Amino acid sequence: MSQPEVFQFKSEARQLLELMIHSLYSNKEIFLRELISNSSDALDKLRFEALTRPDLRDDAPLKIRLWSEAGEGGRFLHIEDNGIGMSRDEVIANLGTIARSGTKEFAARMAEARKAEGEAADAEKATEDAQETEAAEAATGGDVESLIGQFGVGFYSSFMAADEVTVVTRKAGEDQATRWVSTGDGTFSVADVQRDTHGTTITLKLRDADPDNGLQDFTAEWVVRQTVKKYSDFVQYPIELRTEREETPTDDDGEEIEGAEAETIVEWQTLNSMKAIWSRAKSDVTDEEYAEFYKHIANDWEAPFETIAFKAEGMFAYQALVFVPDRAPFDLFYRDQKFGLQLYVNRVLVKDKADELLPDWLRFLKGVVDSPDLSLNVSREILQNDRRVGSIKKKIVRKTCDALVGIQKDDRERYLGFWEKFGRVLKEGVTDFQSKDRVLPLLMFASSADPEQLTTLAEYVERMPEEQEAIYYITGESRTACENSPHIEAFVDKGYEVLFMTDPVDEIIVGHLTDFEEKKLQSVGKGNVELGTEEEKKLAEEARKEKEEAHASLLELIQKSLDEHVKEVRLSSRLKSSPVCLVGEEFDMTPGLQRLLEQSGQASPKQKRILELNPDHPILSKLQGLYEENAENPLIGDYAHLLHGQALIAEGSPLPDPAAFARRVAELMTR
Ligand code: ADP
Repeated sequence: MSQPEVFQFKSEARQLLELMIHSLYSNKEIFLRELISNSSDALDKLRFEALTRPDLRDDAPLKIRLWSEAGEGGRFLHIEDNGIGMSRDEVIANLGTIARSGTKEFAARMAEARKAEGEAADAEKATEDAQETEAAEAATGGDVESLIGQFGVGFYSSFMAADEVTVVTRKAGEDQATRWVSTGDGTFSVADVQRDTHGTTITLKLRDADPDNGLQDFTAEWVVRQTVKKYSDFVQYPIELRTEREETPTDDDGEEIEGAEAETIVEWQTLNSMKAIWSRAKSDVTDEEYAEFYKHIANDWEAPFETIAFKAEGMFAYQALVFVPDRAPFDLFYRDQKFGLQLYVNRVLVKDKADELLPDWLRFLKGVVDSPDLSLNVSREILQNDRRVGSIKKKIVRKTCDALVGIQKDDRERYLGFWEKFGRVLKEGVTDFQSKDRVLPLLMFASSADPEQLTTLAEYVERMPEEQEAIYYITGESRTACENSPHIEAFVDKGYEVLFMTDPVDEIIVGHLTDFEEKKLQSVGKGNVELGTEEEKKLAEEARKEKEEAHASLLELIQKSLDEHVKEVRLSSRLKSSPVCLVGEEFDMTPGLQRLLEQSGQASPKQKRILELNPDHPILSKLQGLYEENAENPLIGDYAHLLHGQALIAEGSPLPDPAAFARRVAELMTR
């Protein structure tokens, strides 16, 4: 053995360790789940690497072994695998820092919780304000320790059960083995050692058993057996426990030989059923089993929102087990985040995140697809071009959307909870030409019909009066902005519902939302609107034409004053109480989209819009009066600018020259 070299844990890892050591958490047994899970991953990795490098594997079957011992030196539990192992550098990197993002987030939440706890204590001292303490408790989830149960905290959780942890590991394909030892006190030591084969052995020097505080005696066979069954039954490799029994030798007739000394017989008993959970009939799997499996593959600490299992038989067979998580991951909108399902070929994991199996807009799904009919050395290229993979993906989309629609119908509350977390991602599906029709029924919108509720498109259509031709919508910054927008006045007046699209991505998706159930989707801020029956429309149009002729010269003058900003000034058929609004032509960009593009640094040509005046508003007759008195009156130009400003403010757009607007208002007030 080489001289041990001592290292410091990185600070996040140190924090986590401290918490583990002082944990009052009552499910300390999860450390075994975490260590077995790491071993299972290490075996997966070896099996996968060996596909291309057969020299890495020996003949020994892949397995995980557990054994315990108790004696003078203490009580020990060993967890061993003959998986990929770690090199010296990997040991230092993997077991000295926090590797996985879930654990990092855990550390962050923990720090937050601690801070809130501290603040709560301060608040209590200073003011004895019960409410504030309550708020802080809500922020901590009540109890720092409870966070441990929610997160899988990986290797470090072994310190909940052990006061010293030793890891001896040898990487497959290398000769040198490494020993890592720590008591969790801020440092660990690393030395070069010998190990006969590749793989990893973890030895826990167990703390005293303390069942009242959730720490059972892990040298007891039944404790290990029960824990493995509970958390790791589906692990694909045998988890064997060493058992010993005393046996007195027998003679040929099976009679004990008198005076002979009892022998110790060692047996390795497999504790887990190893059945790939996805290959079992749905009716044979409990919700808890699915949940444990989900937590294992998703690195999540909560049960999934929904579990979807299905299979195909025949020419091309496969099994799929797909989970909808209950929480959106924090990196859901990170551009280069990797996503996908695990792809197995006959129980061999060939790709951990096969994004070929999911469209972007379902990237939050977790799960497994196993097909015996795919090749073991599937490359990315093959996967992308394989028609069979495409058909699995289609089926996953269909099954997932069906399940979600089912929830939307049966339990609206529950669906809305899901929608709040994942709705924005689902909406991206509208831009996916192939799946658009499956996504549309899942969408939920606020609308003018009921301020408290969200509606589906189908429900909207159901409420449409017979003569209503299109599904109307408005985009805006907030519900209130939409509700108060001049653009919706005529529609609401007529009893037509307007959808409120208030999410910034709505600006983009409405471009793809052309129709639903043969009804066109139409923006209330674009084009000409004529509402009602054919007869009503004709009459309204005639009346408007007549008025437009009567005001023609005035409108022209206003247009001239605003030439820089608007391309046309006309009388409106959409305004009922507001004097003025700005609209676009059918294919124009909305101002919201224009702003979105500008913010993202994409140059977009400034589009001039159309200013519409309310023909029935007293302002119009006032202006007409001024104009008839004196067509040169400079006030008309000022008023034109004020009207334009008002229209912008009403729709939540910025003014081109706020100072000039303010000055004109001030002048008007002075008069
Ligand atoms: P996680 O398993 O979530 O990545 P852990 O803290 O449990 O986090 O483990 C950190 C890393 O240490 C693992 O990602 C893996 O690379 C390595 N590791 C842990 N246990 C083993 C093992 N039994 N064999 C090989 N590598 C391991």
